[in-house]
Amino acid sequence: MAAAPQDSGAGAAPPTPAHPGDEAPAGAPGSGESVCRRCGGSGRDQGQACPDCGGTGKVIEGIGGG
Ligand SMILES: [Zn+2]
Repeated sequence: MAAAPQDSGAGAAPPTPAHPGDEAPAGAPGSGESVCRRCGGSGRDQGQACPDCGGTGKVIEGIGGG
């Protein structure tokens, strides 16, 4: 029922993680691929594609930094 917020059509959007479980965009400095904790790397959650990793079984975790 919730409607998606409408963007005002900005040109240059900042890089955002591809999946909810990602902590950083792919390729971002100080980040790395990790097994998704939600699905344990299976990419499936309760019979459906894992919402955290989008079914890939992997998420991008921020490492190092603070
Ligand atoms: Zn997952």
